[in-house]
Amino acid sequence: MTYYVSKINTVNDKSETCVNCGKAHLETNIIIEKSGMDTLLCPNCETLMVVTNHSDNKPRLKVKEGETVTIRHNIRN
Ligand SMILES: [Zn+2]
Repeated sequence: MTYYVSKINTVNDKSETCVNCGKAHLETNIIIEKSGMDTLLCPNCETLMVVTNHSDNKPRLKVKEGETVTIRHNIRN
């Protein structure tokens, strides 16, 4: 499964709605590289949300805004 990532945001908690557009039905439990961080992706506005308490710590993802990312769902959940 591939998604285009328009924006990358960090969130403190797993939200049920998108921080950017407010839509629900986010793609959850997706793996981006080996970051070990929970990520959510909004299919509506293509915003990738990284769940972290360290807002000062920019997530170290290989995907950048404006790129397409291949995503697989986390089979452990
Ligand atoms: Zn959205």
